[in-house]
Amino acid sequence: MSATIIDGTAIGNRIKQEIAAQTARLASEGKRVHLTAVIVGSTPAAEVYANRQGEACRAVGIDYTLQTLPDDISQRQLRDEIRKLNKDKSVTGIMLHAPVPPHIDLARMQFEIDVTKDVEGVNPANIGYVVYGHTLIAPCTAGAVVELIHSTGIDLYGKEAVIVGASEIAGKPIALLLLGEGATPTLCHIGTRDLISHTRRADILVVAVGKPGLIGAAHVRAGAIVIDVGINRVKQPDGTSKTVGDVQFDAVQPIASHLTPVPGGVGPMTVAMLLKNTLRAAEIVLGK
Ligand code: NAP
Repeated sequence: MSATIIDGTAIGNRIKQEIAAQTARLASEGKRVHLTAVIVGSTPAAEVYANRQGEACRAVGIDYTLQTLPDDISQRQLRDEIRKLNKDKSVTGIMLHAPVPPHIDLARMQFEIDVTKDVEGVNPANIGYVVYGHTLIAPCTAGAVVELIHSTGIDLYGKEAVIVGASEIAGKPIALLLLGEGATPTLCHIGTRDLISHTRRADILVVAVGKPGLIGAAHVRAGAIVIDVGINRVKQPDGTSKTVGDVQFDAVQPIASHLTPVPGGVGPMTVAMLLKNTLRAAEIVLGK
């Protein structure tokens, strides 16, 4: 068997086309979708990411404003800036770029973002809605993973889903969303004993750790769907570097039924999910 490669770029592009059509419909009614992203201080990596994000938004008809605040801004001042955006009727979505300077409590500031404008789904209230099965806006990476699994056509009900990595932005919300779909999730972390005994049971294996090649052939059950969230830059013998996931792609491809590549899997889908969440937030804010 050789796994079907799940093409996150192609699936993401289809979603973007749907978003573009919907933003055009809203625009024809005089309604603009407008994301404001806030960066605190100057971090070149975040700025590059934010500029790409701006391009992605504009490509689907979403207005994008990048608000750069000084890195010595106090937490209270940052909170006030977020509250201003919450009240601004022309802003339909808000996100705060990480990292923030050490004196800023990122989670506390994310809590300040109005729950209906929280396009990253990071406000604890949005996580709470996921817990109670009334998802308003799901965290982008978790939403991307679920969409990629759906693209295989599998019915998640009753399936064993093993998630390796239990972070707030990836593993935990992925487990909650899969539970909501009727799967039986097992959430593995650094303290999990005998990781392989869990992963080998998985009908669906999601890996979100950040350790290149952590998952090899022996970890994977024949016919499993394997979703690789990891993004790692590794040096090659010739001195160049390349991006790889947490899964040993070549070793796992003959065993899995479906497999996401890195790059080209979860990454582009996460961008598409941010746009989808931005549209969703706008529809809520604009009362659609
Ligand atoms: P993180 O916050 O560092 O969390 C990693 C998780 O993996 C933690 O729960 C950690 O457990 C667990 N872990 C570490 N070593 C382990 C091991 N040997 N066995 C089992 N679990 C282990 O990382 P993250 O932010 O979730 O990101 C994870 C990876 O996904 C990174 O490569 C990141 O770049 C990538 N990522 C990709 C996207 C995308 O759009 N494609 C989005 C987000 C993240 P402890 O906390 O107990 O140590």
